[in-house]
Amino acid sequence: MSASSLRMLSKTKQTARIVIVGAGSAGIAAATRLLEQGFRNVLLLEAEDRIGGRVHTIPFADNVVDLGAQWCHGEQGNVVYQKVMDQKLLEVTEPHYENFKCVRSNGEVLPETIADQLKKIAFDSIPERQTDLGAYEGSLGDYLNMKYWQEVAKLPPIDRNIAEEFLEVFHKFEASVEAADHLYEVSGRGHLEYWLCDGELLLNWRDKGYKQFLRVLMKVKDDQPEDLGILKGHVLLNKRIAEINWQGVDELTIRCWNGEIITADHIICTVSLGVLKEQHKQLFVPALPAPKVRAIDGLKLGTVDKFFLEFAAPPLPEDWPGFNCLWLQEDLEELRDSELFWLESVFGFYPVSHQPRILQGWIIGAHARHMETLTEEKVLKGLLWLFHKFLPFNVPQPKRFLRTQWHANPNFRGSYTFRSTYTEELRTGAWDLESPLLDVGGRPRLQFAGEATHKHYYSTVHGAVETGWREAERLNFYYRQRMSQL
Ligand SMILES: Cc1cc2nc3c(=O)[nH]c(=O)nc-3n(C[C@H](O)[C@H](O)[C@H](O)COP(=O)(O)OP(=O)(O)OC[C@H]3O[C@@H](n4cnc5c(N)ncnc54)[C@H](O)[C@@H]3O)c2cc1C
Repeated sequence: MSASSLRMLSKTKQTARIVIVGAGSAGIAAATRLLEQGFRNVLLLEAEDRIGGRVHTIPFADNVVDLGAQWCHGEQGNVVYQKVMDQKLLEVTEPHYENFKCVRSNGEVLPETIADQLKKIAFDSIPERQTDLGAYEGSLGDYLNMKYWQEVAKLPPIDRNIAEEFLEVFHKFEASVEAADHLYEVSGRGHLEYWLCDGELLLNWRDKGYKQFLRVLMKVKDDQPEDLGILKGHVLLNKRIAEINWQGVDELTIRCWNGEIITADHIICTVSLGVLKEQHKQLFVPALPAPKVRAIDGLKLGTVDKFFLEFAAPPLPEDWPGFNCLWLQEDLEELRDSELFWLESVFGFYPVSHQPRILQGWIIGAHARHMETLTEEKVLKGLLWLFHKFLPFNVPQPKRFLRTQWHANPNFRGSYTFRSTYTEELRTGAWDLESPLLDVGGRPRLQFAGEATHKHYYSTVHGAVETGWREAERLNFYYRQRMSQL
């Protein structure tokens, strides 16, 4: 046996060097679990100047806003919920995303009775665990259209234009849930791979934001909220990784963008699918095996961005729990010919819990990516034009404005993942992305975690956390088994 093989085999939980690339939810979950299991030499390398990744809570207006993950989705089987359920950190969000007004581009507000009927039909048409979708060949968009029009036909006659306008905006809303550019690229059958956790689906973190959950994971003390808790001394920020060399039996090497070399016995890579798509060919030496590359190609992620507008006082009348934008065909055609064309994919604005002076808006897809390239000033000007066009009252100039740029940031390159019809075509899935690269002795060398690697809870924080724990346990199992063989 070579000296390097012997050196590797002599490693224990105390001496094995584990590098985790990315300090988002998955990376933090992996690191905290490894430390809890007795590993000592755990290092998180993070490209940004902060931890959290797509959990990004920042001070804004009366307390904080979440630029990324905002809600804990569900209770049963949700590890985020289970971790904090005794601490009263979460509360049920007001039903703004159900009660919103539907406003047409001519300023007309749909009567509640019509809006409620169309909402019910549309929401009921989205299959969660509908078995008939299991055999459906087409896209989620086609399936939704089929169900929607079947049910609309059963109602007393409704203006067809209004029903179409509503369906259009509902498509955008649902595409934001999927993070797809549009629902025609989401696989109908693949949609069933996603498991909803039973219970309340929109639990918010009161005035603390989603970062509060990461503090719980890291065991941060209440009086030192910006501390790293048990991760103190284990995180290096501003450490963007340029290359991961995983060949050979000896130590693995990681090259940072500043040229620094870091060595490790195991690497857990948690970068987003967007980063993998753009960079995997340069990032990994040797190149990743074909099934892994197929998964990186075949799984998809899109862009969902948020707008936050802070006003001096609550901007909407009290009986307005938010609104969706329904475009009349002639107005849409005019818009498409103008430089404000990107506004077509801004689908609605809603209040934010514990933030009465804020309005939060959403934009999806290619138009979101275009919006990210515009100046903040231009984006705000566009949104104020939209308010003026749609709303039957004046919205004042906001005091402060911000928008997210999840795609433009090279450390994310998108928002979250979904299963597309192309994923099915390539017959790939999270299982291929998840599978670790082992050496000939079965030792995990390069492991993969992150929301995209979860078979059922992809696109969520609870999914990302489970994948971090999964990879920590993989190493724990390997070392426990080795010890028992000695
Ligand atoms: C707008 C938006 C809204 C969302 N809303 C919700 C929600 O309400 N509820 C919910 O459950 N989920 C939501 N999500 C999804 C959720 O945020 C993600 O699923 C989860 O945070 C992903 O965690 P992760 O650890 O897999 O990846 P990330 O958080 O992306 O972590 C990966 C880390 O790797 C770092 N990195 C990238 N490249 C490199 C490199 N070369 N070198 C070193 N470090 C690198 C990144 O900076 C990042 O910190 C939302 C996401 C977005 C964008």
